Amino acid sequence: MSKLKKKYCILTNDVELTSLVNHNLNLQTADKVYDQGMRSLLKLYKKYGVKSTFFYTADIAIYNNDIVKMILEDGHEVASHGWVHESDQAFDVLSLEDQIDHLKKSKEVLEQISGQEVISFRAPALRINEDTNTALTENGFLVDSSVSPQRLDMFLSFGGLKKLSWVFAPRLPYLSDSKKLWKKGKGSIYEIPISAFGIPYIGTLLRITPILTRLTRYLLHFENKFNHKPIVFLTHPNEFINEEKTAEKIKKRTKNPIKYFIGDVLRHKVKLKNLGDDAIPLYEKEIAFFHKKGYEFITCKEYYKLSLKN
Ligand SMILES: [Zn+2]
Repeated sequence: MSKLKKKYCILTNDVELTSLVNHNLNLQTADKVYDQGMRSLLKLYKKYGVKSTFFYTADIAIYNNDIVKMILEDGHEVASHGWVHESDQAFDVLSLEDQIDHLKKSKEVLEQISGQEVISFRAPALRINEDTNTALTENGFLVDSSVSPQRLDMFLSFGGLKKLSWVFAPRLPYLSDSKKLWKKGKGSIYEIPISAFGIPYIGTLLRITPILTRLTRYLLHFENKFNHKPIVFLTHPNEFINEEKTAEKIKKRTKNPIKYFIGDVLRHKVKLKNLGDDAIPLYEKEIAFFHKKGYEFITCKEYYKLSLKN
């Protein structure tokens, strides 16, 4: 396995029940994600000849099979985003047995709906621990994309302090250690890290601060000239929906009042910027840039297979 020399851009989409406006998980959001978010993204991808990876939680796939089936025709990849997105069932709090169970069920559901073999995984909220690698391996997964090297989140993302291990994670895709996905080693899981340059290259940041994201994009493109690191962008179809606010209060995910204010209240307010229709032109600029620079847009699975050949 060695580094690929061409310019690759891997656009990834996490498909889940999360309502950004209401700060909860619900099925009305799933309807919007299907009707608006997914359709807008697929249209955009078609325009630029993009093949991308969609990580689904099993609950949204079960609720509406078509949300999975709608991507198949254009050659996108169906991948797993776990069983559910509830924070009390994140992979870094589940036992090894439960992690194995969630992955097994999620893989089965997605393969049954799509008819595709599911080999790629991204943990909900990117929360993983030292058992996740074992759970993935046991279920025949081959690719993970839950690590974001040199991304400094701290309190801004949930489980942020645990993600300090990311600071030293390798920048280029690598075969991970048999326990720690954020370390290189001799395990069987190939890690395709999400791009970051201090700040992550993701839809949330693109909407909050398009200027900083543009700077990150230039830096990543510049870096690619030297080390051929693929550009890996993370977004969610729920960022491209116009939603009504129906919930009154921001749901508490922690008992710590400071964490609640920073991690839930403040973060919630900031995350609402440029949602829905406004997000599309912003995202299109990112795609158009790499398209113009001659990058090839491929899926995680395709990148993994190419890395085996090289
Ligand atoms: Zn997610």
